[in-house]
Amino acid sequence: MTPATPGAQRRVALVIPVFNEGPVLPELLARLGAVRRAESGIAWSCIFVNDGSRDRTGELLAGHAAQDPSTEVVELSRNFGHQAALMAGVTRAHELGVDAMVTMDADLQDPPELIPELLTKWREGACVVLAVRRSRQDRGLRRAGFDLFHRLFNRLSDFPIVSNTGTFGLLDSEALDALVALPERHRFFPGLRAWVGYPTAEIVYDRKNRAAGTPAQTFKRLVSYAFDGMLSFSYLPLRMLTYVGMLVSGFGFALGTFFITRRLLGIEIAFTGFTTLVTLTLFLGGIQLVGIGVIGEYLARVYDEVKQRPLYFVRRKKP
Ligand code: UDP
Ligand code: MG
Repeated sequence: MTPATPGAQRRVALVIPVFNEGPVLPELLARLGAVRRAESGIAWSCIFVNDGSRDRTGELLAGHAAQDPSTEVVELSRNFGHQAALMAGVTRAHELGVDAMVTMDADLQDPPELIPELLTKWREGACVVLAVRRSRQDRGLRRAGFDLFHRLFNRLSDFPIVSNTGTFGLLDSEALDALVALPERHRFFPGLRAWVGYPTAEIVYDRKNRAAGTPAQTFKRLVSYAFDGMLSFSYLPLRMLTYVGMLVSGFGFALGTFFITRRLLGIEIAFTGFTTLVTLTLFLGGIQLVGIGVIGEYLARVYDEVKQRPLYFVRRKKP
């Protein structure tokens, strides 16, 4: 992308996917405005991606964009989900040829007041700046799910990512080019951002509860996002099947040898063991079904990649 000429104003894009965030938008816009005024040395562009919201979000954003020429709204044709909406914004930032891009959620769980800290690390030379959560306020099932995911991910992944990072962070133009060049459809943003590499810095923050409304991401979506994360960065589930298979067949072979030897030696085999048979059959059947399931998860992802469907559609601007 266009490198910044010395002395020229640096251009930074804010990329924010938005889905039914009507109640939080006024506060978000106000707080972003304050940050942008404080960092007036930067030429800001604010890219909101309206991911098929069904509340007043679209109107509010359009109204704001009409007043502020540095704000634009990317309208998707329907709700495509957080990751796709994020990519729509990232792609737009890439088209604009900005020097850096900040990605964040609209619900104020990622406080806009941290943006200057991200910029400082960038000015100090980092290409990627991660906002790492020191704490989070999610409770119950969601909390347990997040914790389990991060623990599992770090166990499974062939490739380490900094745990407790979400989408909040900054990428400079070089890392942005790399991220956009990745063609895959099932996108796990924190993983891909780590995968592209480049000098990375971190800041820490306390993740707040969302300012208003309920989480726009359903639990089901989060689970499938977690699967995407784990399966696209690890072959371990497949490899584990091989290991379990080898273990079970090794055991079977040993047991077979034992019985055949006994038979050859003329030692009588008693016809009992109904319980053992039932247990073994169920156990092996279970392992096989899990195996097919794991292969299926990978296969479904391969199928999606092969179909080559675009990640999202952007609506044309009405004149
Ligand atoms: N979001 C989106 N499309 C969706 C769901 C969510 O663009 O289908 C946006 C949402 O408006 C928010 C961000 O993605 O800005 C994260 O969503 P949410 O707060 O529901 O996720 P969580 O914080 O639970 O990960
Ligand atoms: Mg949230």
